[in-house]
Amino acid sequence: MARETLNSFAQQKLDDLEAKSLRRRFVDTDRLGPALAGRDGKTLISFCCNDYLNLSYHPEVIQAAQDATARYGVGSGASRLVTGNHPLFRQLEQRLAKLKQAEDCIIFGSGYLANSGIVPTLVGPKDLIFIDELAHACLFSGTQLSGARHFVFHHNDMGHLEDLLKTHRETGGHALILTDGVFSMDGDLAPVEALAALAKAYDAWLMTDDAHGIGVLGEGRGSSFVKGRKIDVPLQMGTLSKAIGGYGGYLCADQPVIDLMRTRARTVIYSTGLPPAVIAAALKALDVIEANPEFAASPLKKANRFTQALGLANAQSPIVPIVMGDADVTLAASALLEREGFLVTAIRPPTVPTGTARLRFTFTAEHRDEDIDRLATLVKEKILIKRAAE
Ligand SMILES: *Cc1c(COP(=O)(O)O)cnc(C)c1O
Repeated sequence: MARETLNSFAQQKLDDLEAKSLRRRFVDTDRLGPALAGRDGKTLISFCCNDYLNLSYHPEVIQAAQDATARYGVGSGASRLVTGNHPLFRQLEQRLAKLKQAEDCIIFGSGYLANSGIVPTLVGPKDLIFIDELAHACLFSGTQLSGARHFVFHHNDMGHLEDLLKTHRETGGHALILTDGVFSMDGDLAPVEALAALAKAYDAWLMTDDAHGIGVLGEGRGSSFVKGRKIDVPLQMGTLSKAIGGYGGYLCADQPVIDLMRTRARTVIYSTGLPPAVIAAALKALDVIEANPEFAASPLKKANRFTQALGLANAQSPIVPIVMGDADVTLAASALLEREGFLVTAIRPPTVPTGTARLRFTFTAEHRDEDIDRLATLVKEKILIKRAAE
């Protein structure tokens, strides 16, 4: 019976994952405030939310979303090329292009949809992709969808990337270099300047995924801006789902590239436009960020309070990982913190490489210093010292 084989296939997969401590489950999580989560009737201070500026709770952002819903309705009703292109899209695209100092911008339904759409629009089977081994899963999805031959370079290893470019660049048509700007599970930054130089030298197109950079680095402009100067990154991709507080993805680039996306990117053409409320909220979030660069910088400051308390290297972004190794050890550490009132989810393979399961701490503008200090003490005394003794 087909239905029985289907179900037993699924059950077998689940059992295998369970045995390896790799099965994942949704847990109902109520948002009780900017940095507070409710689970099983308990209030936890969340250190694992990507809402770095807590803008998903900002009163003006909420108001903007409500006003847009009242005016334009709940959903956009169709793909943007049909009737789903409410006027807020254009406003937001212009704002993002300005922020990123690019000629133009296009909004996608999410960051995942953006990368799945952008990469196959730019390269195909005759072309090449060079991608950092720790790049986000959706950059790999886009790579697979494109059918381009691809080469994975060691994380942030410019020597390895150059070797690969030297050996293979001549064997393909166009070449695309893909990397996260801020690595989502490690919190470190790509060497964007060095990448831009290699891209130039080997005639490759550089694309950075700045999901965790926009809003919080470079005065809110993201990881392609270092000390107020823009590095030459022709394809600046990112999301509205993290520091911007809502949902959606974008690409900022020169005019012909964006116009090509409008007419060819399958995830734009064949997917419904984002709801008006989401776009209006992002516009208001950008107002808040641009009006207050110090506020934008605060999550990184909070992260550094934590790293300093623990004697770790300075944080480069609001993300701080503590690699534990095994999945079950990491789950136990996460459960310990939860009993103490902190929500810090265990990150396990395949989200991170095997043997590098970790606690991933994210810091937000509204975290109180005393909570960060208490968390650091707990981590030091109950997790790190215990681990060192084993
Ligand atoms: C979260 C994330 C994405 C996906 O963005 P969504 O808008 O959540 O789909 C893409 N790239 C990176 C690096 C991310 O961290």
